Amino acid sequence: MNQSQAKLVRARWVLPVTAPPVRDGAVLVVGKCIAGVDTYKSLVLIAPPRVERLEFPESMVLPGLVNPHTHLENTHFAQVIRRPQPFGRWLRQMVRLVRKQTFDAAIAAAREGAQQLLRYGVTTVGEFSRWGASFVALQEAGIRGVVFKEFICLSDEEEPTGSAKLWEWLQAVRSQGSPLLKVGVGPHAPYTVTPSAFRQVVQLADELGLPLCTHAAESPAERALVERRKGLWRLWLGAVLRDAPLGLSPLRYLDWLGVLREGTLLVHCVQVDDEDITLLSQRPVWVVHCPRSNANLQVGTMPLAKMLSAGVKVCLATDGLASVDSLSPLDELRFVQRLFASQGAFAFSLSPAQWLRMVTINAAEALGMARETGSLEEGKRADIAVFPVNATEEPEEALIASACEAILTMVDGHIAWRAE
Ligand SMILES: [Zn+2]
Repeated sequence: MNQSQAKLVRARWVLPVTAPPVRDGAVLVVGKCIAGVDTYKSLVLIAPPRVERLEFPESMVLPGLVNPHTHLENTHFAQVIRRPQPFGRWLRQMVRLVRKQTFDAAIAAAREGAQQLLRYGVTTVGEFSRWGASFVALQEAGIRGVVFKEFICLSDEEEPTGSAKLWEWLQAVRSQGSPLLKVGVGPHAPYTVTPSAFRQVVQLADELGLPLCTHAAESPAERALVERRKGLWRLWLGAVLRDAPLGLSPLRYLDWLGVLREGTLLVHCVQVDDEDITLLSQRPVWVVHCPRSNANLQVGTMPLAKMLSAGVKVCLATDGLASVDSLSPLDELRFVQRLFASQGAFAFSLSPAQWLRMVTINAAEALGMARETGSLEEGKRADIAVFPVNATEEPEEALIASACEAILTMVDGHIAWRAE
């Protein structure tokens, strides 16, 4: 045991997430890993003599939060894009902004976004990257996660160049190696990648054993286009789906392409019917719910209660700052709780502890990182967030109710952010 690297983080509450809260608890960190989670009294007996003590008597210690869907390269678009506005208009404004963006602008935006994540206690992220710039920014900031490289292919003629570029980027990043970051593929959406190009990307991901993330069933316009080649986007994007079968919902279409496989994250899934929900429950995929983004882009409300009742695996993410007001998973949690309550009476409800799993262990599992992070457990990597919430009882409820930033964020045993 390297004593100089040992830290004992003590707080009024420790919330391991996969075990009940511990009053006057502590987390013992040795090097990059968690060496114990227990009451302070018990841990202090086994801590090395020169352990560094970090004491937070009016706060709570959590596993670092996991935000499984962001677009950090869009951070600066928050200043210019209109929100709320209908999705179609938003998308056109985004296309104009993206065309003007440079790599330098993207990396500056991603650096700022990464710092915001740390401030909100996020230690693991699922980032959708257009340029690869956010990979660099996340690496600099020392944040864990998966960077999904965005792939758009509006015609089969573009496919060989697009696939070659994707492959080159993946190879370059993988050969360089990064202790905290993994890579994945991000075919953008069913309406921005042709069927044959989509299949190529799935095949590439399967061959390299990579996770895949795509936006799916987000808006009524997408559904009308994919299922019936109707609606507002027919002239704009109809040609992309020239070789796709008619009559399949976006999710059934993705299943037809082989996308609904182990290691796939489906972001949004708002426009779904009962058959789609059954399909999702039968496939080894994760649904990534971004309710504030859905509200801002006026695409409808994901039937969360129905999905959970059917056994669909759901986690929660903020999406990027072009469609949402903060990168805070706790803000998202507060919003979704209110939304869930306003949807009326359901056969079941979720406890604050279950809600908290959606931004910790469930999201880590969705990203294939639950062995390393997502809960406070001995042997896991030391990803920790301390929140200034002083609760006497019901710590999970108090945490979700309080709009606050972290006072300390640790990734892999290293303090990546600390409030002044
Ligand atoms: Zn997105």
